[in-house]
Amino acid sequence: MNGNLRVGNLFGIPFYVNVSWFLVLSLVTWQYGSGLAAAFPYLAGALPWVLGLGAALMLFASVLAHELGHSFAAMKQGIGVNSITLFLFGGLAALEKESETPKGAFWVAIAGPLVSFALFGLFSVAGLVLPLSGPIAGIVGLLAYINLALGAFNLIPGLPLDGGNVLKSIVWKITGQPYKGLVFASRMGQVIGWSAIALGAASVVGLSPVGSIWTLLIGLFMLQNANRSAQYGEVQGRLAGLTAEDAIAADSPVVSASVSLREFADDALLAAPSAWRKFLVADETGALVGTVLVDALRQIPREQWANTPVAAIMESASNIKTVVADRPLMEVIQTLETQKIQALAVVRNDGSLAGLLEKCSIQALLQAP
Ligand SMILES: [Zn+2]
Repeated sequence: MNGNLRVGNLFGIPFYVNVSWFLVLSLVTWQYGSGLAAAFPYLAGALPWVLGLGAALMLFASVLAHELGHSFAAMKQGIGVNSITLFLFGGLAALEKESETPKGAFWVAIAGPLVSFALFGLFSVAGLVLPLSGPIAGIVGLLAYINLALGAFNLIPGLPLDGGNVLKSIVWKITGQPYKGLVFASRMGQVIGWSAIALGAASVVGLSPVGSIWTLLIGLFMLQNANRSAQYGEVQGRLAGLTAEDAIAADSPVVSASVSLREFADDALLAAPSAWRKFLVADETGALVGTVLVDALRQIPREQWANTPVAAIMESASNIKTVVADRPLMEVIQTLETQKIQALAVVRNDGSLAGLLEKCSIQALLQAP
């Protein structure tokens, strides 16, 4: 996200605040400060604003505690947390990957609201037992309310909210297919997003006593995210059951190490319909032994091509990453994305080279009817 300021590290997790969050900070400070000034006229000078700022920072801490709840649940499952970011509509803990089981996904999703409800309990009890009065009692009451609202709002069952992730894990558990949970929870998110937009719009034009411009904005934010996750879920559905082998290029650029450069130049280059610049090299058993660049032919004078094998100009196989043929295609895509690579050599379980898998051939596979 643009406009994120790195604030520091929390339990080893990089912690960012989006610039939009300062808008929330000043709004809450102003709103709560002016409320305190009106309710407690004896508060002098800047004191109500200082207290307002204190309340705003506690709101900030409450959202952060909620995100740490998700983060700790993920870390307990061995999933790294890339960052925690606070922004206009709340917080986001960016996880390195998803849980492997529906049960794991359920706990990561529910942990945030559970922390919020625990804080609600804590502040409620503090408000009852401690001898607080005046503005401090007001702030403690506000914090109890904020955490209750934070927990309850996030449990609305539609993505991208936590309740949506809970729903996703339940549908995943029932159907055994994570993408079905994702699509279902995204559809619910779209319905909720549209409802919030309608409610917010109705309130803006004076047709609804509840809702505000914020309802409209939050609805738009939800809808946008739900659309994206629905799309992602549908792609996952199309990929379900497909493996790395299914995405191998039909005319994979593979050449035998023992073939002469003459043959390599004639057959592989002239016959191949697509202009491959790099070929995979296989030995007589079919195993991947290296890669060869077409440009490397220039290193050898043309008259020596007939009695020089491809092996003489090939580079080591460590130049290309490999993947096992029966790996789910979804995982292969994640590998391509996280390692920022365009192509992989696909190797069968017996060690023989199956072909080349390119990022663009996966896209073609997805677009195929
Ligand atoms: Zn949450």
